[in-house]
Amino acid sequence: MRNQEIADILNQIADILEIQGEIQWKYLAYRRAARTIENLSENIADVLGKQKLPGIGKAIEEKIKELITTGKLEYYERIKKEVPPIVIEMTRIPDIGPKTAKLIYDTLKIKTLDDLEHAARSHRLQRIKGLGPKTEKAILKGLKELKKPQRHLLGVILPIANRIYKDLKSLKEVKQISLAGSIRRWKETIRDIDILVTSEKPEKVMQVFTSLELVKEVVLKGPTKSTIIVTRDIQVDLRVVEDESYGAALQYFTGSKEHNVALRTLCSQMGFKLNEYGLFLKDTEKKIAGETEEEIYKTLGMAWIPPELREDRGEILAAQNDALPTLVELKDIRGDLHLHSNYTDGKNTIEELVAAAEKRGYEYIAITDHTGTLSIAKAIDEPKLLEQITHIQKLNEQNQNIRIFTGAEVNIDQNGDLELSKDLLEQLDIVIGAIHSNLKMNRKEMTERIVHALSNEHLTILAHPTGRLLNKRAPSDIDLIEVFDAAKKYKKILEINAYPNRLDLSDVNCRTANQQGVLLVIGTDAHSVKQMRFMEYGVAVARRGWLEKKDILNTLQLDDLMKKLKI
Ligand SMILES: [Zn+2]
Ligand SMILES: [Zn+2]
Repeated sequence: MRNQEIADILNQIADILEIQGEIQWKYLAYRRAARTIENLSENIADVLGKQKLPGIGKAIEEKIKELITTGKLEYYERIKKEVPPIVIEMTRIPDIGPKTAKLIYDTLKIKTLDDLEHAARSHRLQRIKGLGPKTEKAILKGLKELKKPQRHLLGVILPIANRIYKDLKSLKEVKQISLAGSIRRWKETIRDIDILVTSEKPEKVMQVFTSLELVKEVVLKGPTKSTIIVTRDIQVDLRVVEDESYGAALQYFTGSKEHNVALRTLCSQMGFKLNEYGLFLKDTEKKIAGETEEEIYKTLGMAWIPPELREDRGEILAAQNDALPTLVELKDIRGDLHLHSNYTDGKNTIEELVAAAEKRGYEYIAITDHTGTLSIAKAIDEPKLLEQITHIQKLNEQNQNIRIFTGAEVNIDQNGDLELSKDLLEQLDIVIGAIHSNLKMNRKEMTERIVHALSNEHLTILAHPTGRLLNKRAPSDIDLIEVFDAAKKYKKILEINAYPNRLDLSDVNCRTANQQGVLLVIGTDAHSVKQMRFMEYGVAVARRGWLEKKDILNTLQLDDLMKKLKI
């Protein structure tokens, strides 16, 4: 069982206990344990019982053990039956807590989510004591959200896809293999996994695929197409195609739909027909390309288009004019300027972060723990930050391989001021400013707040500028054009935060920022050594935003970076 699945179950137990009116500390304990597991960089099965895990006491540890060894938890199965399923279902609606769900059920005795929608529409919900028109509105909005097919974070789904990819690639029966679909385009959220292979023995490949260890259900098993459901209810489609059509199939199944429609329209104008089997002459149906993608694009008179750009955002015209950008790559990245250490809520020591950075071939990193009045993550206080600065100076004297910059992720208050003393701001190499509270201000106020922060002479980088959390929280209402103008005017750098549930700025926004002349930086916001690999997701956003090496601050060599930042 994976960490996330275990955390999901613990969270559900907490919900059930809360619904049942249990005392607070009891259900909060389960939530706390769930959070610990979610933030863990190792597999819980490997560390449980061997190291102290915050929030996981004896009783919960026993339950996790049972989940790991048997894949089930008797306690959970039992208490699940004590609560009507609809009440648990209601807690899946954003903004509906267990107490509200129970209250609605007790008053209206509804049985399905359709009943709930009906009750909301006929305004029966707002008549319940304790609820009002606001809750009713939120429920209707939440129900709409719930009906949309679920999209998974790239950071969750890609590791799973890569595991399946590797297992299949190792088969001698598999000749060519590639991920396709939106995962090949590195979209920020993904609906399902598509894989394409060529093989002389498709039956054998399908046999292996449908009996992979992580299979939960086989939906379809055929000679050329099979579908399985794996952990977290993710659907995986595998198609076996002919070698001579591999390029055409890859092009077709990579999408996006918008890109393919535009490409097919162009084909038609040129007297061609393009489908998943190949590129054909329209009148004679003679096949003229299909084995590789390159061949297809070339026949159409254009350069091969990197999958990240295939969104019908001008890439076809650029490819025809030989004007595609040379996209930034992971290997261009020379350092990570947004890292948290164990001085606050990070898991690793600065020494461990340095070692990991060296392993990645970096030239520099910045330690940027939180400062300010943050309630979510313990903020570092000023004496401790001073201690950290001395610590880093010492490490820099000892180790010449990597330059460690002193820094902080300073909270931006309601007025746009940085929550750290001037004295310390002046001492730090890199000051990241970030908003973590009051995210729902109106557009004008929010924009002013950010512009004010950008005008601060001490600020280097603005982190996760829009504050969005994928699948959870919409971006703040901000006039980004004005923010980009201010960033350019004050020579500030905007971040592409690579943390999988942020990816903020987004692909489209970082492209606009770049077009407005703003320099960007990719930071992982890693809270552990393992999370430093998130860099690849940030690079993917930059690539989808058409960015080149020169557009990203942390592709600079150490000397150039220091010159640029006046360190
Ligand atoms: Zn932050
Ligand atoms: Zn951070």
